[in-house]
Amino acid sequence: MRGMDDLDPDDWASLRALGHRMLDDMFDHLQSVREQPVWQPMPTAVRHSWEQERLPRAPRDPAAAYAAFRSRVLPYATGNLHPRFMGWVHGGGTPVGMLAELLAGGLNANCGGRDHAPIAVERQVIAWAAEMVGFPDTASGLLVTGTSIANLIGVLVARTAACGASVRQTGVGRSPLVAYASAAAHGCIVRAMDMAGLGTDALRLIPTDAAGRMRLPLLRDAIARDEAAGCRPFLLVGTAGSVDIGAIDPLEALADLAQETGLWLHVDAAFGAMAALSPRLRPLLAGLERADSVAFDFHKWGQVPYDAGCILVREAAHQLATFGTDAAYLRRTARGLAGGETWPCDLGPDLSRGFRALKVWMTLRTHGADRIGAMVERSCELAQMMAARIDREPALERLAPVALNIVCFRFVAGTGDLDQLNAEIVADLQESGIAAPSTTTIDGRLAIRAALVNHRTRVEDVERVIDAVLSMGQARAHKAQRDNAA
Ligand SMILES: *Cc1c(COP(=O)(O)O)cnc(C)c1O
Repeated sequence: MRGMDDLDPDDWASLRALGHRMLDDMFDHLQSVREQPVWQPMPTAVRHSWEQERLPRAPRDPAAAYAAFRSRVLPYATGNLHPRFMGWVHGGGTPVGMLAELLAGGLNANCGGRDHAPIAVERQVIAWAAEMVGFPDTASGLLVTGTSIANLIGVLVARTAACGASVRQTGVGRSPLVAYASAAAHGCIVRAMDMAGLGTDALRLIPTDAAGRMRLPLLRDAIARDEAAGCRPFLLVGTAGSVDIGAIDPLEALADLAQETGLWLHVDAAFGAMAALSPRLRPLLAGLERADSVAFDFHKWGQVPYDAGCILVREAAHQLATFGTDAAYLRRTARGLAGGETWPCDLGPDLSRGFRALKVWMTLRTHGADRIGAMVERSCELAQMMAARIDREPALERLAPVALNIVCFRFVAGTGDLDQLNAEIVADLQESGIAAPSTTTIDGRLAIRAALVNHRTRVEDVERVIDAVLSMGQARAHKAQRDNAA
């Protein structure tokens, strides 16, 4: 029966031609991204088109699906390819990363386990990551969707280390386990405590100093208070590059404290870890190599296409004790495809997993760690330049120190509610297609937040964003004056 044999094309030549066209189109898109708007909202008709189509029952030409991609997806994507996308902390991706995704998709490897080369590639990438943060050869690790899940894994491994592997059978019950993180820690740490069943009440958020770093004396007080109250401190979470302003906790002192108290030190270095690749920035991370586990992303400052997070555990035995399985259908054999000792499914919650490692491997192998480090350094230089310009502009006020690559500021030459005004300026900027910063709250004030992460960002982009904030702020301020006068 025609069409019932398999899902390979009847006409390989025409699908091949379509594939080549897709590749050429995506190269054109990447090459011209600077000339395109950063972002544009989906028109109503496009939005509706996504809500109306029923489950497709009959086969159709893949060219039709590609045409829909061209008209209804491509122009309305996130915008993070663009050099003036400065919102949140998003990586820019690379053409080489795109090609690696194509190869990985073609291979369709399942990296949950077994004995095959894609697993070896992932081990290689984990070894490189361990070298990057300064971990010993005893380290283990896993590529995961992102730092949120990597942090959850860190919490779970710390729990097992504290309670012993029997906690996997008995559960934590009404455990008195308590953990500590800075008040500037990412929200996914709180969620990790929730998902691990330890409860968000068991996470103590320690206030920060003016530079956004955890205040050590307050941390010591909190630990002493908990111990006196019969709680069981088990985990210290340091942040290397806070989400709001890029602050780095005093990691060396946290490592000392962890050593002294026997607490597990986990560091959320989601984007900050990449600073380890720059000889100039590396000293900022001193102490990271003493952590028990580190979570970070290759998909942010590492520019690897989404998604590519990473968890590293200094002593592999702890990670294995947390996730190792002995299900019969996952039995290891001395020979054959079921060979290999530790499988990735022994190190994390996923069984089936894609070949995320290839895009990380190809990115590092092509561009080299030094080049990525230099690019990270340039982002920090651009951030300093942006801060200096803001400090020179009377209409702008900087709201936080710039430790790495994040600049928080606002337009102050207006009357009335400055929070509202700045939120409008950010929405204006995004809708104009000129730039896409985001917002956050610093000391109760709404800030325009520019995170310089994209490898395509240049001096002229930073200038253009500041110019646009000034002109849009002034336009809104004048309009408000006219409205008041009228
Ligand atoms: C981005 C970020 C996270 C979350 O990482 P995902 O990859 O989005 O899951 C956690 N912590 C910090 C500091 C971050 O910047």
